[in-house]
Amino acid sequence: NIFRSLGISEEMDKTLSKMGIVKPTPIQREVIPEVMKGRDVMAKAQTGSGKTYAFALPILEKSKKGGSHIQGIIVTPTRELTIQVADVLKQLTKKQKNTDILAMYGGQSHEQELEELQKNPAYLVGTPGRVLDQIKRGNLDLSHVRFFVLDEADQMLQIGFLNKVEEIIKSTPRSRQMMLFSATMPAPVKKLALKYMKEPKTIEI
Ligand code: AMP
Repeated sequence: NIFRSLGISEEMDKTLSKMGIVKPTPIQREVIPEVMKGRDVMAKAQTGSGKTYAFALPILEKSKKGGSHIQGIIVTPTRELTIQVADVLKQLTKKQKNTDILAMYGGQSHEQELEELQKNPAYLVGTPGRVLDQIKRGNLDLSHVRFFVLDEADQMLQIGFLNKVEEIIKSTPRSRQMMLFSATMPAPVKKLALKYMKEPKTIEI
């Protein structure tokens, strides 16, 4: 029941220990090894289950260092969750050079965001409206993305953002690895997942 046994590196394990994170939660125990293996994952998980580390840790472990393209994108339903997830990624990558995390959400200045985008962030966290807006402006190229995470998919559905999410998915390459987290699995969420995921491993805690 330690992170090392799930495939997490010694370096990352040390970073986690310093943050007081020493024992994986059930969702982390299930999700991390699957993502490390390269599988798509569809997980039923509540807020508070530790789902953020469940996707953040394997993505960071599997990423190529020093690339100039966006490697991973995490789409969340709200500004608050976007900031929260971006903060987790920032904490975990504090010691890595050239690993910028960009949080994108409505209400920020487009100009400033464009400036941040031009600095080649490694990971992007954002709400669907804003992400799609920047894609349509030609400011955001997701053609080299390796990891796509849809967080709180059922909330996305509730606020009517699922079609925007689908458009974002379509602008990422087919080779991407996809992870979906949702507290409940309503039919439209399942349908979207099955349309774009490759034989996803279903995880329910
Ligand atoms: P989440 O469900 O990702 O929003 O995480 C809920 C809270 O649990 C956050 O405050 C995390 O810092 C904390 N947390 C996540 N994983 C662990 C863990 N393995 N050990 C202790 N705390 C954790």
